[in-house]
Amino acid sequence: MQHTRIPEQLPVMEKLKILSDAAKYDVACTSSGTARGNNGKGIGNCFDAGICHSFAADGRCISLLKILLTNECIFNCRYCLNRSSNDVPRATFTPDEICDLVIGFYRRNYIEGLFLSSGILNSPDYTMELLYQTLYKLRSQYHFGGYIHVKAIPGADPFLIEKTGFLADRMSVNLELPTAEGLRRLAPAKSREKILKPMRQVQNRMEENREELALYRSAPRFVPAGQSTQMIIGATPENDFQIMSVAESLYKKFDLKRVFYSAFVRVNDDSALPALPGGPPLLREHRLYQADWLLRFYGFEAGELLSEDRPNFNILFDPKCDWALRHLELFPVEINRASYQTLLRVPGIGVKSAQRIVKARRLGSLDFQDLKRMGVVLKRALYFITCRGRTLYPIKIEEDYITRNLLYVKEKLPPELRDDVTYRQLSLFDDGMPLSVEEQSVLLDVSAGSAAAFAGGGAI
Ligand code: SF4
Repeated sequence: MQHTRIPEQLPVMEKLKILSDAAKYDVACTSSGTARGNNGKGIGNCFDAGICHSFAADGRCISLLKILLTNECIFNCRYCLNRSSNDVPRATFTPDEICDLVIGFYRRNYIEGLFLSSGILNSPDYTMELLYQTLYKLRSQYHFGGYIHVKAIPGADPFLIEKTGFLADRMSVNLELPTAEGLRRLAPAKSREKILKPMRQVQNRMEENREELALYRSAPRFVPAGQSTQMIIGATPENDFQIMSVAESLYKKFDLKRVFYSAFVRVNDDSALPALPGGPPLLREHRLYQADWLLRFYGFEAGELLSEDRPNFNILFDPKCDWALRHLELFPVEINRASYQTLLRVPGIGVKSAQRIVKARRLGSLDFQDLKRMGVVLKRALYFITCRGRTLYPIKIEEDYITRNLLYVKEKLPPELRDDVTYRQLSLFDDGMPLSVEEQSVLLDVSAGSAAAFAGGGAI
């Protein structure tokens, strides 16, 4: 199919419109965990406190200029808007145009960094060379010290990837689909091997770089914020267990900083793609993010959350609550004695509140009032804990009873222990593993008009 060609002299703002829109399906774009100083002559800093780290309600990063270098592509992945057979407006930035945009937006305080991805223009090497040139100019000629996340292009010369990695904060290679079979069906020009090769290269080089930095503190830093990847969810028939197992293996074997999950959006009319009458699987995406959080910070393993017999997450409860309901023999736990790892497994207790509990109980035994002050989501935790040997109410440690009560929590707590009822914006980082807006509506459907289930900012 003939592409709608863009005239060479297309204004840069027109290109921006096309290439920022084309980048919106890539969600692997958080910035955190890196510090890049400025020598006083350049522009921009990047702090590991994560100031260029911001999320929309659906978990997508919003603080970076997020663009493609080009939406031209020699490949024809069936799920992708930019595939070669689509008749869409095409554009390609020059490295200097990207530099001007980044510096201009940075000066106006619009952005704190750059997320740069790309279609494959001519060849992987050609594209990677352009990405490298862009970063080289930004760092050396424009003295930009802000955060940069760039894609490593599978199939590109490892030397180009390495040079680019010394200029970037984070690199990512998208896994795209969770299994090799999925790739064969929807992206036959790609293969699991080709994708994992640069991922392994980046991992090995990061490891070497840590040794170099231990010897010479002034050694150049290679991808200091680590690497990430993205999987599209729902375009191929993998279940949640398969997806979580892949993510777990990537964290363990490739030292990934983050795995991102992107609910499949059907942008192409293609018989190989699922119809998705209910729209993109956002609740599923949300559950995967919650489970991912449990793998990284709560000591869970994928095999504890799901199994081949039970391969998908519960739509009613977050993965930790679901796990607790299936392991009631371990509850209730005594707040004043339970280990930190055990506390982390209690629904309604997050990393921060578990840390606070362990610290505070050294000074004396804790009661439910103390827990509330420490951020424990009591309306969820109360079924799983005791304080000084007593539960908050006389309760039954029994699955049906707890399930019913968790779905009807309003006014269950005494007034002094009630959380404020707010409908605040939800964040992936709340201790209490909040519900998304879609999740709330699913619950509303299921519990037939029980708006009570959502009192307290959506936390059940
Ligand atoms: S290589 Fe990337 S940009 Fe090209 S068609 Fe595939 S997913 Fe789209």
